[in-house]
Amino acid sequence: MSNAFSDSDMQRCIQRVDFGRVSVFYGEKSGKYPDGNQVLVRGSKIRAAFDTPLVSNYIGPEFDATELVVMGHVHEDHMAGLHRLPHASVYVHEADLPAAQSWEGMITAFGNSEYASETLLKFQREFFYAPRPDAQGYVDNASWDLGQTRIRAFHMPGHTAGHSVLFVEPECVAFTGDIDLTGFGPYYGDAGSSLADFRRSLARLSEIPARVWVTSHHRGVYTDREHFLRDLSAYAAKLGEREQRLLALLRESPKTLAQLVDQRLLYPPGYEGLWVVNAETRTISQHLAELLADGRVEVNEDGVYRIG
Ligand SMILES: [Zn+2]
Repeated sequence: MSNAFSDSDMQRCIQRVDFGRVSVFYGEKSGKYPDGNQVLVRGSKIRAAFDTPLVSNYIGPEFDATELVVMGHVHEDHMAGLHRLPHASVYVHEADLPAAQSWEGMITAFGNSEYASETLLKFQREFFYAPRPDAQGYVDNASWDLGQTRIRAFHMPGHTAGHSVLFVEPECVAFTGDIDLTGFGPYYGDAGSSLADFRRSLARLSEIPARVWVTSHHRGVYTDREHFLRDLSAYAAKLGEREQRLLALLRESPKTLAQLVDQRLLYPPGYEGLWVVNAETRTISQHLAELLADGRVEVNEDGVYRIG
């Protein structure tokens, strides 16, 4: 198989859709993880990319001509094409900046230092991982004038501390990143994640005056506001479903955090992976903190949680 298809064959097989100066290149399976969907913006002066998922390695000259990368957030699957753009300026929200600049910063944001060396090898092998010490920070409402088109960043944290939605005008395309509206639901299992911030970001997302919404993974492109809003509310409802499952587990019998983690909340029961116990622990802890705060759950001095 190795020489059966040329690079230009690969380029032809990538599905794309254009909205004025904005192009969306679909990753494999509509950008299902580990791939993602690539957004390129062709200003009259500057060519920009939003994130760089795996598919960016197969687009060719249109991607490789990128002069400016604006990252919606920093995770391995969004950095997979940065190695192709050593001379491009890379901008990252300041709260995600350390994660972009060094491996140490990334592992701190993940919070899984015990698996650092296995994780680094996996990222190098599967995501062309290379940190960007030259990356620069941006803040909420930052904007970039590309010539006849403009990017604006809206800080919408939760998934990561710096997660931002990138909005292109006049095309009115919103790149929502890993507020991805997938059936999995919101992910806030990293050390730098926040359930409370994610709730606020979900509530604000519909305020962006977009006509087109692009998610990093799986869903791809929405051009119908009603459809987008329906999927957004189903996605947000996953938070309530997780809360109900936790309460049901505690109704069965009081449990410690470790016992709840054994039952899994994010992933199916029995699901294993390097980071799974850490992600479940952080996810469940954040829900328990909310439930404790409003008195629906109590905890005793032995760390056993029960219905309040
Ligand atoms: Zn992510």
